[in-house]
Amino acid sequence: MDKKDLKSLTFDELKMEIEGLGEKPFRAKQLYQWMHEKLASDFSEMTNLSQNFRQKLQEHYTYTSLEMVDHLVSGADGTEKFLFRLNDGNVIESVLMRYHHGNSVCISSQVGCRMGCRFCASTLGGLTRNLLPSEMLDQVYKIQKISGERVSNLVVMGTGEPLDNYENLLRFLRLLTDEHGLHISQRNVTVSTCGIVENIRKLAEERLQITLALSLHASSQEKRKELMPIAYKYELEDVLDACRYYFLQTGRRITFEYSLVGGVNDTEEDARRLSHLLDGFNCHVNLIPVNPIKERNYVQSNRTVIEAFKNKLEKYRINVTIRREMGRDIGGACGQLRKSYIDAKEREKGYENV
Ligand code: SAH
Repeated sequence: MDKKDLKSLTFDELKMEIEGLGEKPFRAKQLYQWMHEKLASDFSEMTNLSQNFRQKLQEHYTYTSLEMVDHLVSGADGTEKFLFRLNDGNVIESVLMRYHHGNSVCISSQVGCRMGCRFCASTLGGLTRNLLPSEMLDQVYKIQKISGERVSNLVVMGTGEPLDNYENLLRFLRLLTDEHGLHISQRNVTVSTCGIVENIRKLAEERLQITLALSLHASSQEKRKELMPIAYKYELEDVLDACRYYFLQTGRRITFEYSLVGGVNDTEEDARRLSHLLDGFNCHVNLIPVNPIKERNYVQSNRTVIEAFKNKLEKYRINVTIRREMGRDIGGACGQLRKSYIDAKEREKGYENV
């Protein structure tokens, strides 16, 4: 049988495991504290646990930890990008953003992604695997340790589709917001999805106080299909209905993300249609100037078009903001740091082969 992953266990599960090993129950508390409060990178740091107990843990469980392989710091706004290597050699990307209201970390939820959004760099190589709950936690833990600053906000907006890794995501959210761990407030957590309808509904029924961000990016079903293959699976109306359900169940206002792509979804007609679509919806629209990737020839809308789009929505009394582009000078859209790392490795391999 596969070894269980220690850091992905809830406190109650951990207690049972520890008792099963013939150890005293208070050991579970100590161990949980080492993992989720003191953020220990490995067993050797857990100095108040006996050698014998640590040995047993090593034998019976896996313990995830991340190794930092690249680190970029923005001179402009203090944003930091991290490239981490997982135990199996895969690499993932995470970002630390500094805001006046606190530090926010953007994590990846999968290695790669299978959603295929046309403008997104994270999906170009497809999906490699889901991340474990512990591997999502580790991104936050590692960044908090490296920066020495408390992380107070979290967004699941890095590589991957979180609702395509639903069970692990839920476990991660519970551990992250647990009062005996980092205890990040649910209200400070945002999960972004391309719109997997049944899982939005399932998440709604969990009644968590997290914010749901829905990647809309188009004002009609037809246009959405051009940018997001997932639209072939779910009708726009069904996606919006699921969002309404989320609001009804949780009372949390939905954020709609709309990446503006020059000449594709940024016309006056788009703004008008979007306004009608969201009429009466208690929501917030976040306009994101598209971050061009070299594999596609999408371009950013120019500033006046972006402002006009925003004004149009405001005329219809829709709450709207334009996303500030953080870490511009350390460049690239989500997933590009990882992609350039993988491309460089591939090139190295290529040279070795000749
Ligand atoms: N799978 C999740 C998280 C993706 S990343 C989702 O689809 O929501 C978070 C947001 O960034 C999404 O809205 C995504 O569509 C958007 N995004 C991805 N690549 C982008 C790019 N190059 N420019 C602008 N927005 C991008």
